[in-house]
Amino acid sequence: MDFQLNEEQKMLKKMVHDLGEKEFRPKVAEWEAKAEPISHEHVKKLADLGLLGLCLPTKYGGQGRSAFEAILAIEELARISILCAAPVFESNVGPVKVIEQFGTDEQKQKYIPPVCRGESMISVGMTEPEAGSALTDLTTRAVLDGDYYVVNGMKRFVSGGGESDVYVVYVRLTEQKGAKGIGGLIIEKGMPGFSFGKQEQFMGFRGFPSSDLIFDNCRVPKENLVVKEGEFRKLMLAFDLERCGNATMCLGIAQGALEEAMAYSQQRKQWGKDICEFQAIQFMLADMALRVEAARLLIYRATVNAATGLPVPLEANLAKCFANQMVREVTGMALQVHGGYGYSKEYPVERMMRDGWGWGVAGGTIEIQKITIASLLLRRRFDQRR
Ligand SMILES: Cc1cc2nc3c(=O)[nH]c(=O)nc-3n(C[C@H](O)[C@H](O)[C@H](O)COP(=O)(O)OP(=O)(O)OC[C@H]3O[C@@H](n4cnc5c(N)ncnc54)[C@H](O)[C@@H]3O)c2cc1C
Repeated sequence: MDFQLNEEQKMLKKMVHDLGEKEFRPKVAEWEAKAEPISHEHVKKLADLGLLGLCLPTKYGGQGRSAFEAILAIEELARISILCAAPVFESNVGPVKVIEQFGTDEQKQKYIPPVCRGESMISVGMTEPEAGSALTDLTTRAVLDGDYYVVNGMKRFVSGGGESDVYVVYVRLTEQKGAKGIGGLIIEKGMPGFSFGKQEQFMGFRGFPSSDLIFDNCRVPKENLVVKEGEFRKLMLAFDLERCGNATMCLGIAQGALEEAMAYSQQRKQWGKDICEFQAIQFMLADMALRVEAARLLIYRATVNAATGLPVPLEANLAKCFANQMVREVTGMALQVHGGYGYSKEYPVERMMRDGWGWGVAGGTIEIQKITIASLLLRRRFDQRR
């Protein structure tokens, strides 16, 4: 076991760090205030440096590097803001991975290269108004009619909704109940019968588009089926890598919050001395560092073991669940170290706290993650319906 980054990984981390500090940090406050996604020019910069599709195969325009290296890049950018990390997240550990792992060669040729060039973004539509944690209750139906699937239903809270060009949509392909009838269809923006709801106004994630997807007799070519019925497990296996990305967003935010708290505690004076000289502040800084480092180790283990493929489910779920709780605690402490200024929009820690909270809901709530972890530990399934 080696806890050191190799030379290439150190270079990658430094390159992303410098890019983030120089090109992205000066823009973050403006994007946040206007609730705007990062500019196309910035996405292009990420693409030109090979950060989009870093862990996708070179055959399809990616860099052929490991999932861990993509995670290193996401972490560095999420330190600054989740908006900066979002394109790297989506293009490496997002639903594009379902296509890369389980798609046909035609699907890979069509959908992966534009993602690596920063010209297309792929989102995932799983959640429905009546099927959140109980995902396998989903009712969006796809019925084969000649050469097309006819899709009817609605998806909720889809990150990238309205903005992304392509959606991997979980649909019910047969009348079978539960996971058995569920598969995945690739649906493109502009296909007849596909529209979007209004943009969500979340507590955090400002500039991260999110909307309902609405399918009204939407016609999707049958060759767009990426995961057939009975293979729901494949969708979940690929989603475990997305969960590592979710955990890494938390890690980056928390690392950023720790850095802010360290700096502030050494510049703010009360009672005639730097507040870092008070033991209460030292304990908070130490507690933050403890949590950040523990999350980092869980995430690195899960993604190093994934190599260029998918992670072990237990390792991915442990990493996500821990990081989701950790970021709420760490950003809360960072805010407290800042006193009243932390509660003000003049300082970034309040944004970090708002952004950090959402990841423990997105991609499966903390509670559902714990049920999954217990189930994987005990090798037993716990039916929540009975
Ligand atoms: C920022 C953000 C981004 C998102 N991005 C996407 C996306 O890109 N694509 C997508 O499809 N979805 C997305 N979602 C939706 C997300 O996956 C769901 O919100 C989540 O799975 C929870 O579903 P729900 O909101 O319906 O809550 P519910 O399932 O109604 O849960 C409500 C509460 O009940 C608890 N609960 C439910 N069942 C149990 C149980 N059996 N045991 C114990 N507690 C339980 C939950 O933990 C939660 O606390 C996103 C959500 C957010 C907030």
